[in-house]
Amino acid sequence: MTTNSPHVTIIGAGIGGLCLAQGLQQAGIAFDVYEKDAANDSRRQGYRLRLDQTGLAALAACLPPQLNALLQQCGAPPSPGVGMIDAQLSTLKDKGLQDWQQDGQPDLRINRLSLREILLAGISEHVHFGKAFDRYRERADGKVDVYFTDGSGVLTDMLVGADGVHSAVMGWRFPGVRPEESGDVCIYGTTAMAAAAHRVAPELQSDTSVLFEPGLAMVIDAMPSQPNMPPGLALTDIPDYLYWAMIGKRERFVGMEQDLQGCIAGITASWSPALQALFELADPGAITVAPIRHARPVPAWKTSAITVLGDAIHAMSPASGLGANTALADAAALLQALLDVAHGHSGLLPAIARYEHELRLRGNAAVAASRRGSIQLLGSEENPMQALVD
Ligand SMILES: Cc1cc2nc3c(=O)[nH]c(=O)nc-3n(C[C@H](O)[C@H](O)[C@H](O)COP(=O)(O)OP(=O)(O)OC[C@H]3O[C@@H](n4cnc5c(N)ncnc54)[C@H](O)[C@@H]3O)c2cc1C
Repeated sequence: MTTNSPHVTIIGAGIGGLCLAQGLQQAGIAFDVYEKDAANDSRRQGYRLRLDQTGLAALAACLPPQLNALLQQCGAPPSPGVGMIDAQLSTLKDKGLQDWQQDGQPDLRINRLSLREILLAGISEHVHFGKAFDRYRERADGKVDVYFTDGSGVLTDMLVGADGVHSAVMGWRFPGVRPEESGDVCIYGTTAMAAAAHRVAPELQSDTSVLFEPGLAMVIDAMPSQPNMPPGLALTDIPDYLYWAMIGKRERFVGMEQDLQGCIAGITASWSPALQALFELADPGAITVAPIRHARPVPAWKTSAITVLGDAIHAMSPASGLGANTALADAAALLQALLDVAHGHSGLLPAIARYEHELRLRGNAAVAASRRGSIQLLGSEENPMQALVD
């Protein structure tokens, strides 16, 4: 740490907040992370993430080399292919096939919990669980008082809202600017591979499949357990599973509020039995519904010592596979800005202003791409695969 280094308070120990924290740790910049959940695994938050080259480069910039190497080892091997199917498991020949790749490099598929465990490694003493942000107050000297719902508070040089789609920091920083519901809904869950073995279609158990039905699309991704799990790393053991996520217009999910499994059974009633089994055998406690929200662009603002990253400012549909990758890119960009401050090349506010300029461009572009993706996915047949990857 240098005398120029600010103390950074991060709200939210999610993907973006922890990635930034790792970078700050590496740089010797003091930080603390406050997370409202009681523990890393106390809530289910999606199961597999596809990290593209943007996200992976950001992680490489923030993680120490040994953790970055572990990340690569803990990812599932690239899926052998992407199959386009309908609900009878027939191949859709008219759908363009495209692997999940960026610049010829395959995405890394990783379990979200494993990723968060890696992101917590070596910094857990600075990550405070069970601390929900409540509000902040800017002091005349530029410092920030941060208050938590338990009545406690801390004084910091800089506050980063990395608290996700329902960001309370955003609520104070930009009152009235909330993401809007798109009218689409995502239902996602997992089915243990062991349970699926005899009843779910074999091709779904080894591959990535994308299913198209009118007004609804679905990805099914076979996630083998990490074959190269390094010894001694305390990662939760996650048995092989099939990850699935369906996205559709809200009208397609009749009765989901009252009986989610009944709703899925209704949607899939005429589907191939080897596909229906995926849902019948799913872990009931793992099935989750998330209304899809898209951020509205925030008009240019006056920079202060309170900034944001990730879903907090650019929430988007999971269909695009861009949300976490963009949050990671934000974290790496903010780290770079804070390194400039720590090295005496910039004052804190000019550095944050530069970061926020990039953040606006990157976030707006990602949300726009995600909106286009959702429209293509559900509203038109044109280039549907792109909608899931781009
Ligand atoms: C089913 C599904 C699949 C997805 N797949 C992909 C994918 O393959 N690739 C991809 O790039 N993206 C994917 N996404 C999107 C991705 O999950 C998000 O964009 C990403 O998690 C955003 O990271 P973040 O750090 O901004 O927020 P989050 O990871 O949501 O973290 C926010 C954290 O802040 C905490 N928090 C909230 N409020 C408070 C408070 N008041 N005080 C303290 N802490 C608080 C939360 O508990 C949480 O831990 C998917 C999303 C879903 C739902």
